[in-house]
Amino acid sequence: MNLFLTKLVNSGIYISVPFCRSKCTYCNFASGVFSGAQMGRYVERVLEDIHSFHAYAAAHGAQIPEIADTIYMGGGTPSLLPPEELEKLFHSLRQEFTIAPAAEITVECAPGTLTGPVIRALAACGVNRVSLGVQSFVDQEAASVARLHTREKTLSDIDRLRDAGITNINVDLLAGLPHQTRESWEYSLEQAVITGVPHVSVYMLEVDEDSRLGRELIAGGTKYHAHFVPDDDLTAEFYETACAQLNATGVRQYEISNFACAGFASRHNLKYWTRQPYLGFGVDAHSMLPAADRSNAAGTESLRLATTDSYDQFFVAPEWQASIVGTEQAMEESFFLGLRLNQGIDLPQLRKEFGDAVAKYDMAIAELAAEGLLLRTDSNIQLTERGRLLSNEVFARFIADKELIT
Ligand code: SF4
Repeated sequence: MNLFLTKLVNSGIYISVPFCRSKCTYCNFASGVFSGAQMGRYVERVLEDIHSFHAYAAAHGAQIPEIADTIYMGGGTPSLLPPEELEKLFHSLRQEFTIAPAAEITVECAPGTLTGPVIRALAACGVNRVSLGVQSFVDQEAASVARLHTREKTLSDIDRLRDAGITNINVDLLAGLPHQTRESWEYSLEQAVITGVPHVSVYMLEVDEDSRLGRELIAGGTKYHAHFVPDDDLTAEFYETACAQLNATGVRQYEISNFACAGFASRHNLKYWTRQPYLGFGVDAHSMLPAADRSNAAGTESLRLATTDSYDQFFVAPEWQASIVGTEQAMEESFFLGLRLNQGIDLPQLRKEFGDAVAKYDMAIAELAAEGLLLRTDSNIQLTERGRLLSNEVFARFIADKELIT
C-alpha cells in the first residue's frame, strides 16, 4: 500500500556502515575491510549528511515526515564501529529528527564482534533489535566462506545481548553454502529455533559476477570451495525445508525471506515493502520521500535521493542524485514489493491509489495465476509457494526496467 497518498506517515531511517572484518567469499554488497581511520572519516561524512539533510531534501522538493519510528543500521558490520562512533551517529540522528519513543532500532552485527563496550553502547543508544549474520551453525560451512565465528560464539553472543536487555534478535541463515547438506541445513534451522530468537531470515546463495565465489562457480572452478556448493535444486529444497520447519515452530513466514513470531516482523523492512517513506545515509543508501508539491501528479509522485555505491566515490561524488518516481514506476513497485509479503496485495486498495491504470496488469495476473505462480481472489493476489521460489520471474512480468528487481 502506498501510504504517501493518504497522509504523511512516519518514516524509517537507514544508515549504511560498509565495513567488515573480512570479506565473505559470497558477498556481493558494497562493503570491505577498512582501517579505523577510514571508518572515522566515513562516520564524519555521514554525520555531515545527517546534519544537512533537511536542506538537501528541501532543495530537491522532498518532504520529510515529522517523526521517524524505525532506525536500521546495516552494512557491512556496524558492530565493528568503535562505541564512540556508534554513539555519534545515534546522537546526531536524535538531534536532527524526532525519533518516536517506541521506535524499533536495529543494528546488524556479526557474531564475534560484540565486545562488552559495543553491547553497552548499543543499549545506551536505544538499540532494541539486533540482526545477527550467522548464516550457518555449522563451523565448517561458516569457515568455508570466510566467516570468522563459531556456533559457540553465536550462542554466547545471543545470551550476552539478552543479558543487556536486547531480546528482539534476528538470525540470518544462508541456504546453498559450500559443504551444506540436507542434514546440516536442518541442523542450522533447529539451532536457530532452539535459541528462541523471534525472527529468522533465510536467503539463498546468489551466484553472480559480483562475488568471488559467484565468479568461481560461473567459471566452474574449485577455489573458495566452489565445488562443494549444492546445486540449485538442492538449494531450492533447503529453502522449502526452511519454510516448512520454521512455520511449524511458530516462526511464521511473512515475506519471501523473512519469518517471525507474532508481533516481531521487522517494522523497518515492512516500510520498504509497503512503500512508506524512508531516509538513507551512507554508501549505497537512498531515501524515498514524498514530493512536497504533488499538485501536478496523480498523487503518487515521490523522490528518490541516492548516494554512491563505493566508499571512495562517497567522498568525491555530488552528495545526492535525485530522481522522480512517477505513477507508472510507483505502480510497478507496488506489485513487486507488495508481492514479497505473504499477505499479498490488496487489489481494491491498489485501484483506489492508481485508478484504472491498474487494469494493464490484468493479463499478467491471469497468466501467472494460470501458471500456478499467483493465487488470486477478487480482492487479493499473492505468490504461491512455487511463485516464491520463482519470484524474480513473477516480478519481471510487472516491470519495464528489469534491473529494478535485482
Ligand atoms: S559480513 Fe556481510 S557485508 Fe560483510 S562481507 Fe560478509 S556478507 Fe558481506
